[in-house]
Amino acid sequence: MVRLKIGQRILLLFLAVSLLPLLAVNFLLLNLAQKQLKQAATTRQSIIATQTAERVDNFLGSKVNVLIFQSQTNAIRKFQTSEANLNLATMIKQDRDMERVALIDKKGLEQVVVNQTGLVTTHANVVNSDAFKAATFLAGKEYIGPVVYNQGKPEVTIAVPLIRFADQQDLTHLSTAEFGKYRSASDIQGVLTATFSLSDLWQSVLSTQIGNEGYAYVVDDKGNLIAHPKADFLATHQNVAEVHQVEDFLRGSHDVHESISETGDKVFSSYEAITRTNWAVIVEEPISSVYAGITSFYRLAIVIFVVIAAVASGFSLLFQRRLLAPIKRLAAGAKRLGGGDFSQNIPEQGDDELTDLASNFNAMSHNIRSLVADLKVRNDSLAAEQDKLNGILTSVTDGIIAVDRAGKIILLNPPAAHLAEKPADQLINKNLNEVFGWHKKGQPFNLELNQAGVYRYDEVSLPQADKEASLDIMVNVVQHRDDDVAAILTVHDLTTSRDLEVMKLDFVAIAGHELRTPLTVVRGYLNLINNEAMDQLSVYNIENLQRALVGAEQLSGLINNLLNISRIERGQLEVVPTKVDMADITKQIVEQQQVTTKLKDQTLVYEGPNSGAFAAADVTAISEVLNNLITNALKYTASQSRIVVSLEAQAGGAVRVAVTDNGPGIALSAQKRLFTKFYRVEHDLTAANRGTGLGLYIAKTIIDLHHGTIGVISDTGKGASFFFTVPAYDALAHDHDNKHHGKEQVGKHGWIKKRSHN
Ligand code: ADP
Repeated sequence: MVRLKIGQRILLLFLAVSLLPLLAVNFLLLNLAQKQLKQAATTRQSIIATQTAERVDNFLGSKVNVLIFQSQTNAIRKFQTSEANLNLATMIKQDRDMERVALIDKKGLEQVVVNQTGLVTTHANVVNSDAFKAATFLAGKEYIGPVVYNQGKPEVTIAVPLIRFADQQDLTHLSTAEFGKYRSASDIQGVLTATFSLSDLWQSVLSTQIGNEGYAYVVDDKGNLIAHPKADFLATHQNVAEVHQVEDFLRGSHDVHESISETGDKVFSSYEAITRTNWAVIVEEPISSVYAGITSFYRLAIVIFVVIAAVASGFSLLFQRRLLAPIKRLAAGAKRLGGGDFSQNIPEQGDDELTDLASNFNAMSHNIRSLVADLKVRNDSLAAEQDKLNGILTSVTDGIIAVDRAGKIILLNPPAAHLAEKPADQLINKNLNEVFGWHKKGQPFNLELNQAGVYRYDEVSLPQADKEASLDIMVNVVQHRDDDVAAILTVHDLTTSRDLEVMKLDFVAIAGHELRTPLTVVRGYLNLINNEAMDQLSVYNIENLQRALVGAEQLSGLINNLLNISRIERGQLEVVPTKVDMADITKQIVEQQQVTTKLKDQTLVYEGPNSGAFAAADVTAISEVLNNLITNALKYTASQSRIVVSLEAQAGGAVRVAVTDNGPGIALSAQKRLFTKFYRVEHDLTAANRGTGLGLYIAKTIIDLHHGTIGVISDTGKGASFFFTVPAYDALAHDHDNKHHGKEQVGKHGWIKKRSHN
């Protein structure tokens, strides 16, 4: 299908609107004109045919009448030869058409013959001639013979009978004798016959003007041509009975008007019979000639057509310029807009809908302009945000990974790529769990990415080329929305810090052990002096010795605590519970600690059974606990305070030891955190005494390993009572397979592991 531009469509519309009605009117007019021309031709032809036929008829009738008139004269009728001669000579002289006239008696002998040149003395017998027969015996009426061409000239012979006078008609009413009226031969006296030239008649008939090119011709009752304007055609064609119009005549009907002529042309045609002779005048006019007038009409119509088309085109161009120019401006504007030029404004000329369109277009382009500017600003700030985010993602030391709902990686920062030991772009769109192949406790495992929530996975191992990384992973699975991001992972690599931690703990252990040996020597000598050389010392030095002893004890406690912490952290703190008499141990420690009471003039007493409080406990570890509690009580109470270490065997199968002082006590709010690492309560005595905040933490760890309980009962200003329980040995004995009966160990990070005996 041809794609027309608007301009072409408008042109077509204009042409259609202006030319189609013209076409219709032309068509109607043409039809009408054709009809009228045809009608006129038919009428004209029929009139001419009738007139011509009448002319021929009149011609023949007048000749017949002349002959009848002569036939009634006495001279002719009575064959008075000399008078008849005169009559006939006069007659031939008076009629230019008459070529020859003859008086024939009833026996068929020519009695008198006169031609144009004069009297002819011949007495030929014409008894067998058609004229004689017809005029006498056969019809008894006038005879009009066939047209004969004599040396190219048409001739017709007319004969009339000579009738007895008595039967003669009234001469004033001369007309064709009635057929069959004369039956007996005696009625007919003879025949008067004359030959007439038809040249003049034909001349006038054939020169009849019919339209521009029409003509008439004459046929006889057999369809033979007897007159035709074209002499050569007449010479070659004798019978035209097959020509439609002639056929029509021979049949006696009047149907055909449009037909093919005797010369093969398309013609309108008409005929009129000549009643006297049964000939017919055929009138023809070529159809082209009939419609010749229409051709000029056509020409005029074409000229009008062209003029109107030109005018319509002109108007359409004008219209296009008016209508299309703004549309073209709009189209060009839209094109530039499409190309990204939002700065243009279309001129708003006029006051019509197109102006509204242009102004709306300008408003739209203005809006787009501001939208684009707005978008640019947002884009810039987004880019800045993106840069910031990228900066953050790159600068954080933890790995950060975003995955989609299918678990595919959609973003990761350099530390995350570093963990996977692959370039980041090779990891995008890969499955998270497949890429990293995490393990936990030797088992492969996958991160949960489907259920919304925050999940923490610690102790995750990631096999790497030269080592196994230890990871702490935080997974934030976001609520499932249309969002692409389904989960964000923060992966913390513990490997390095763990190594550092181990180094630190190793150092603390080594340093602790190295310090303990000389300290033991120091403590030994100080105790030796205290026990054996006291009396040799001045009061001043005794006090110094006391300070040295307390300091050495505190230092020893500190080193023990550090070593214990190091053991706990490395998972090496072990308790091996055996049957111990808690009363015995407690009494001993209270005894050992007496030396440190002296400095502040404090009282440290034991209240409880002397022996028989058997428990399943690790002597060394439990001693640490007791020493810690008693040292604290001495440290955090003022001078001359009283500290009671009490012991009781409980009904539930446990031995309970409590260290109770009358010091400042511990606020309830502080009690909750008392047993955590590095926690120290803020009060005057804490400030005065150095400490690490580790003692109670270690004590709790050790008691936990014994499956005992540890706690404090205290009130601010009313002293504190620290207590712990350890399972009684009896209870252990009753349940030999009980988990208590084993070696207990603290896990690396404070988690308690259990190792069975076997
Ligand atoms: P450190 O003694 O090295 O500070 P501890 O874990 O042994 O560490 O003690 C933790 C804190 O508990 C101490 O700092 C002290 O403030 C408080 N505390 C311990 N025992 C007593 C006590 N008997 N009376 C008052 N406060 C105490």
